[in-house]
Amino acid sequence: MRQPPPIATTTTPPSNYKKILAGIVRAVCPPEIRAPWEWANAKRIMPADSAEPGPFNSDRAPWAKAISAAHTSPHFDFVVAVMGSQMGKTETLFNICGHNFDDTPRPLLWVTPNRKLAESIAKTKLRKMLQGVPTLWAGLAKGKAETITEKIINGARLGFAWAGSPTELASHSVYGALIDERDRMSNDIGGEGDPTEMVKARVSNWVGGTVTSVSTPTVGRAETENIGGVEFWAVSNKSEINSPIWQDWQLGSRHHWAWCCPHCSDYFIPRLDTLFIDPAWSPRDARKNAFICCPRCGGEIKDTEKFKLNQTAIFLSPEQTIEETDPARGGVWIKQDDAAPFGYEARESGAYFIDYHDFVPAEGMTTASFWVSGLCSPWKSFGDRAFNLVQAKRKGEPGVEQSAVNTGAGELYNVSGDAPPWEAVKEKISPYNINVIPYGTQFLTAGVDVQGDGFFIVIRGWGFNRESWLIESTKLHGPTDQEHVWRALFDYLQHGRGGFPIRRVLIDSGFKPGGKNDTHRVYDFCVQHGSWVIPAKGRKTMDKYYKFSPIADKQVGGSPLDLCLINTDFYKSWVHARINWPAGEPGDWHVYQNITDDYCKQVTAESRLTRQNGQFFWVKIRKDNHFFDCEVLATAAAEIEGVSLLAPLPDRPQNTNDQTTQTSTPPTAKTTHVGKKPRRGRRGKGVSAY
Ligand SMILES: [Zn+2]
Repeated sequence: MRQPPPIATTTTPPSNYKKILAGIVRAVCPPEIRAPWEWANAKRIMPADSAEPGPFNSDRAPWAKAISAAHTSPHFDFVVAVMGSQMGKTETLFNICGHNFDDTPRPLLWVTPNRKLAESIAKTKLRKMLQGVPTLWAGLAKGKAETITEKIINGARLGFAWAGSPTELASHSVYGALIDERDRMSNDIGGEGDPTEMVKARVSNWVGGTVTSVSTPTVGRAETENIGGVEFWAVSNKSEINSPIWQDWQLGSRHHWAWCCPHCSDYFIPRLDTLFIDPAWSPRDARKNAFICCPRCGGEIKDTEKFKLNQTAIFLSPEQTIEETDPARGGVWIKQDDAAPFGYEARESGAYFIDYHDFVPAEGMTTASFWVSGLCSPWKSFGDRAFNLVQAKRKGEPGVEQSAVNTGAGELYNVSGDAPPWEAVKEKISPYNINVIPYGTQFLTAGVDVQGDGFFIVIRGWGFNRESWLIESTKLHGPTDQEHVWRALFDYLQHGRGGFPIRRVLIDSGFKPGGKNDTHRVYDFCVQHGSWVIPAKGRKTMDKYYKFSPIADKQVGGSPLDLCLINTDFYKSWVHARINWPAGEPGDWHVYQNITDDYCKQVTAESRLTRQNGQFFWVKIRKDNHFFDCEVLATAAAEIEGVSLLAPLPDRPQNTNDQTTQTSTPPTAKTTHVGKKPRRGRRGKGVSAY
């Protein structure tokens, strides 16, 4: 991308137009108009203990040139880059960051998936980068002005935020923002919504501000489309894509890193489809023998040719075709229907000239999006990527295979599991409202999932034949490392709903608010409320549906407390089976009217896959699955409360026209168990009535 001053575009430039222009640019513009990668080449020195010490060389991962240049280009307010691991992603962000504070210091926000990563970057990697550039190191305000998550460099603020810190994400107006590993973040940060949208709101006060989001992708299904002989990723229906970064990518210019085949000189997009692996090969064979097969001519391309391939590569979008390659000039003539923004040399045919590593954006397109295959990494050979894939396939573990596809290749992983479509949950809507107790309900249970920024809660009513009704699903917001938030949780649950007490609460204790050195607030809460609230943890495989296991005294300050271990495979399958339950059959599973799409998506956010050895495995197909966990906990709580022993209620009273509300008082035969220990042993051995 050029870094142009605003000058009118022309379609019939003189042949030496570009040189003249460069001269004008040099004459009238201060040196800071250079792109971040040019700044890095000129100023960054990599430390002696880095993998490649010495002056920074942008030609090692040359796709980063266009990505970083797009961040500072006035044409774009949003830049999206999707790639695999070992692609120089973090260094690209450092180049944008360093360039910002060295050439034109303006406030910048760096967003990571969690606090640990933010600290790791801020404490060590960033300081090393600053130390490698004397003008930045001298400009860093040291001492009290420097905190772990806030630096002042040459007078401008660099803030670090992470998903789960909605306050920091919402508090400072910045000129630029970097989102690091978007797909490892939730789609809803502290109830404030999508992190990318939150960050975009931070830069909206600045004219020319840009958000750059970089990530390896996750789950989804994308087909390819052949345009002008080149296979591009086609735009998928949004419902097919669960990867947030891929959804953002689809809405942009969709530039693909394209290689020029050394055999036929045609450009093609390297991707896993072009990596040749013989099905008979072992992982070692694959490492030794894998090669790229040119999809245009079938020619074999070896790893040793990769450097050259990257040096003559360009970014190509599906809107564009290549008119002519021009190796003598070191670039390519590209045709597209839209006029290019200012700065591209055009010839009579309407084609634009771009240098290797560059791209032509479309007119008026304000999101630049880039995809680079993990096969292009200079630090991982074709054989390395092939080895990981073959080994993952042999292991038959979807998690391993997903990682090989997502982080190894930078491609979407297509899960073909059996999760019900989220729309199926809507078909379970019955005619009653939230927090109304439908007739047939005999007791309530609750499941609570603990996050750093709040609680996800499901309250479900249970009746004969394990028929059940969702009474409420909600997120209670607040920092869970603070006491008052736990009091709010108790208030939320203690009064039950519609005159029915909640008989038992299971709360997930897998997450410890406040971190390692804090007391375990989940355990504290359970001790405080007797065994009405039981801490629970999932077990992937277990011979029983649930069982109790004492927690070591020192973790709970000497008070006896039992942990409920839950067979998650069993209960997750149970919930999904009930979502697919035929309407009206005994044991139906209901949700109330106006149930949110978010709830429906969360309870179907995981898919059960089978390993080659016949074992089962759950894979997340959407990032947020909290209500699914809550439903599992509420169901296990019902089991502990003896839902299998419930007798049918008498027929509904004739005078009840309103079929949706409970007219009888709560059954009194059973008292609630608040304060009593759960009965261990009998049902603790597991139930088989399903
Ligand atoms: Zn070829």
